[in-house]
Amino acid sequence: MRYALVTGGSRGLGRAICLRIARMGIPVIINYQSNEAAAEETLRLVEAEGGSAELARFDVRVKEEVEAALARWEAAHPDDYIAYLVNNAGIRRDNLLYMMPEEDWHDVLQITLDGFFYVTRCLLPRMMRRKHGGRIVNMASLSGLRGTPGQANYSAAKAALVGATKALALEVAARDVTVNAVAPGFIETDMTRDLPREELEKEVPMRRFGKPEEVAALVGFLLSDEAAYITGEVISINGGLYT
Ligand code: NAP
Repeated sequence: MRYALVTGGSRGLGRAICLRIARMGIPVIINYQSNEAAAEETLRLVEAEGGSAELARFDVRVKEEVEAALARWEAAHPDDYIAYLVNNAGIRRDNLLYMMPEEDWHDVLQITLDGFFYVTRCLLPRMMRRKHGGRIVNMASLSGLRGTPGQANYSAAKAALVGATKALALEVAARDVTVNAVAPGFIETDMTRDLPREELEKEVPMRRFGKPEEVAALVGFLLSDEAAYITGEVISINGGLYT
């Protein structure tokens, strides 16, 4: 049985992606860091639609937590493997660079980049060994493509994730593992709740924020069999904000 793992699956884009994957008939592992109630709610929503899911709490930036949680899962699922990985966990800690506390720099880079590294490194060997290969989708951002003032940490982390996506895609292409990134603009989630929405919507050619379900549809496509020949790509989804 091929499973999917969505990091940061408890809320926002991650929750919508879990639901999308479950609708594709793929059992999903919902990772979260601390918000158990939100993770339980994602699980409930998946099951309410007849899908199958389980929870896995770990902090993606802590190597020992990642490896222990995934080893536990593998021990409990000797005949299964995680063929679909969505590296979605992320945070923002905005500030002008000259005023940015060190921990805000490191937290953003570690969760985005170390998180991608630890989780992906752990799952890749099994993906590469199996006949059906695997699919990896990394959640980048418009911020990582063009740079956003006040987000040097976030832009740096997401731009680095794009570089890692392209490098890894070339490493594993011959093993039928695809690696792509998705770069959303402004999407309605907890992460964007504190932003001046009316002002920002005027900058978006489509004059609105995107919905988590719209990003989830794109991720679902990249995970599907139809996307087998797409790899090393960064696909923007931003209402025309950066074209
Ligand atoms: P969100 O609503 O704030 O949700 C963040 C998710 O990440 C939560 O599930 C959270 O878990 C999880 N998480 C945070 N730190 C973690 C850690 N150390 N280990 C494991 N999980 C962790 O954010 P979102 O808007 O859905 O964003 C999801 C991804 O899309 C992020 O990578 C973000 O940078 C990217 N993105 C978002 C937008 C946007 O406009 N919303 C635009 C571009 C890119 P808990 O629930 O346990 O806290």
